[in-house]
Amino acid sequence: MVVLGLLAGLAWADDSLRVHFIDVGHGDCIFIQTPDDGNPRNKSKQGLRILIDGGESRYNRSWPVRYLKQLGLKRGDRIDYVVATHLDADHVGGLPMIYDTFHVLNTVEPGYDHPTRPARSFRAAACRESLEGTIYWRDPVKSGLISRPGGKLNLGSELDARLLFYSANPGRGEGDTRTNFSSIVLRIRYNAVSFLFMGDAPKAVEESLLALYPDSLLASTVLKVGHHGSASASSKRFVRTVAPRYAVICAGLRHRLPRAATVALLRDTGGAEVWRTDDRDAEEQKNALTAAGDDNIVITTSGKGNGTRVRWK
Ligand SMILES: [Zn+2]
Repeated sequence: MVVLGLLAGLAWADDSLRVHFIDVGHGDCIFIQTPDDGNPRNKSKQGLRILIDGGESRYNRSWPVRYLKQLGLKRGDRIDYVVATHLDADHVGGLPMIYDTFHVLNTVEPGYDHPTRPARSFRAAACRESLEGTIYWRDPVKSGLISRPGGKLNLGSELDARLLFYSANPGRGEGDTRTNFSSIVLRIRYNAVSFLFMGDAPKAVEESLLALYPDSLLASTVLKVGHHGSASASSKRFVRTVAPRYAVICAGLRHRLPRAATVALLRDTGGAEVWRTDDRDAEEQKNALTAAGDDNIVITTSGKGNGTRVRWK
C-alpha cells in the first residue's frame, strides 16, 4: 500500500487531483482530494475533500471510515462535500458512520424519496450533523448549489466540475428502478484529465446526457462505469462517446457483477483499460462479507499533458 505520498496530500498544498475508488465490496465509495495551487491570494476554495457515496451498510459500512483514517483523516476532520448519488443501500448505507466520525460541511443528493431504512438513516445523519453546513437534498437547483442541470459546481478554480444530471422526480418505466434513474451524474475536469461519475444511472439517463450535452462534455479520461457494470447501463453509443482511457467498475461479488459483456464492450468499443474493485475477489474465493478492502484504486494526476499518473493501492 502506497500511503506516504498520499498522507502528504492531506497536510499541505499540492497540485495533484487524487481520486480513490475505495473497495467496499458491492457498492460505490469514491474519495476525491482536489488540487490546491498553494496561492492564498486567489481566494478560491481549494484542496477540498469530497466523498461520493459511502458503500453498503450490512456488509462493509466501516470500510470508508477505516480507509479515510489510513489516509490521515482524524475524527472531527472536515469533509467538504458528501455526494449521495442516489439513496440505494449500496450507496448510502455507510454514510451515517461518515457523519458520526467526520465534520461534513455540505450534503448533495438528488431529492428523490426512497423509504428504506438505509435511506432514512442517511438523511437523519445528514440533518443531524450538517447543522453548520448546507444540505442540498431536495433539489440542487432550487437550493442554489447550481443554477441549472449541467451547471458548474465551485470545487476550486483549478477544476471544471459540473452536475450533469439528477432527478428529484424520476418517471416510471424509463428502463430501470426509479432510484437508479434519480442518480446524480458528476463530471470533473482538471486541465486535460476528466472523470465522469455515473452513479447507477441507467441507459435512459445516458440517452438524456447524449441529447443534452455536446460530445466534448461527455468524453472523459476516466469513466466510473454506471451501475456496477450491469446490463442496465453502458450502451454502446454512450461508451463510444465517452471513449474512456480508463474504466473503473465498483463491484464485489454479491450480484455477480460486472457483467462480462459490459467489460468486453468497454475494452473493445471504448478501447478502455478496465479496473475493478473486485479484481482479486474470485481468485481469493471471497464472498459478500469479505470482498471489501483489498482492491482499492487510486488515481493521482497533475492534469497536464498526456500524463495521468496512476497509482494503484
Ligand atoms: Zn448500486
